[in-house]
Amino acid sequence: MYMKELIYMDNSATTRISSEVLDSMMPYLTTGYGNPSSIYSIGRESRKAVENARELVAKALSCDTNEIYFTSGGSESDNWAIKGVAFANENKGKHIITTSIEHHAVLHTCKYLEKYGFEITYLPVKSNGIIDINDLKKAIRKDTILISIMYANNEIGSIQPIKEIGEIAKENNIYFHTDAVQAIGNIPINLKELNIDLLSLSAHKFHGPKGVGVLYIRKGVKISNMIHGGGQEKNMRAGTENVAGIVGLGKAIELATIDIEKKSKYLITLRERLIKGIMESIPDTILNGDPINRLPGNVNVCFKYIEGESILLLLDMKGICASSGSACTSGSLNPSHVLLAIGLPHEIAHGSLRLTLSEENTQEEIEYVLETLPPIIQNLRNMSPLINEK
Ligand SMILES: *Cc1c(COP(=O)(O)O)cnc(C)c1O
Repeated sequence: MYMKELIYMDNSATTRISSEVLDSMMPYLTTGYGNPSSIYSIGRESRKAVENARELVAKALSCDTNEIYFTSGGSESDNWAIKGVAFANENKGKHIITTSIEHHAVLHTCKYLEKYGFEITYLPVKSNGIIDINDLKKAIRKDTILISIMYANNEIGSIQPIKEIGEIAKENNIYFHTDAVQAIGNIPINLKELNIDLLSLSAHKFHGPKGVGVLYIRKGVKISNMIHGGGQEKNMRAGTENVAGIVGLGKAIELATIDIEKKSKYLITLRERLIKGIMESIPDTILNGDPINRLPGNVNVCFKYIEGESILLLLDMKGICASSGSACTSGSLNPSHVLLAIGLPHEIAHGSLRLTLSEENTQEEIEYVLETLPPIIQNLRNMSPLINEK
């Protein structure tokens, strides 16, 4: 069957596993099947592989190996950080601060905690998708036990003032968790320079395998465990280790953090060409998120008078994988909570398109998208009933 070459621009949803990562995993999916808790040699080999990966993660983040805990991915890490800190510290207070633009793994966890008497403050964001640090200061109460604010947003790419947030949290003796799933591999992160107590990351967002992640827990943080059972991960997260996945994560984070500045510069060049090209060739287009303070590979725009889903279908026919901000739930279209939070009206938020790049994308692909997209938007607008209301 003839297959068009795919232009993959949905790297915030997931990334292609790199061949080096896959190669590193293969032994542990085949002959190296020993349980890391077993004492014979193939068990010990697996243990060594897990601990080697832990070292690679600690090195990439500039932290200690015993602050790294392997999980099943970003969602579990977010759940564990928030519920774990909440339940272990509820004697001190039951107030948590987060933002209105978090990933659902954070938002729905906070909603769940409300049922158990926790009070959550959802900070608003400015129109560029970044919090006002004064709002954070004002939201802090005597009973605040946790601040959970994402490093960079998965939809509009906006990067939060993590250093300042960490300082405020520290001054007030409040734990600070950050969902850094989108930041790892795109922005250099040095935990020695940031007052972060807990950090979530996920391998499949930086060319690693799906279903494996990390929760960094700073030494001394009071947190309960969520998965009870065996004594793995220092009695903090039960279950036989996902050895191959963990090895893949280690390799992926090593590769993702080598030359990160150079990679980031390359992505910014592609991103800027894409944004400029779209804004110049398609009228009535809005760039969502901060023009500068955004993830190197994130482009998110709204085209007035049309719906994101129809753009995606037509792009797919041209071999381009992209995403819209809207989530299609039970047949009804809900615009993204992030686009609504930055103040876009429903009808504009519906017309969103997110293109997220990785270092595997090329200049030629950007040019192809810039040739393909304007006629698609024009055709959809010609058919749109909304445009006549203009
Ligand atoms: C993808 C993502 C998650 C969820 O990670 P999984 O490993 O897919 O569970 C959480 N937060 C952000 C910001 C993400 O982009």
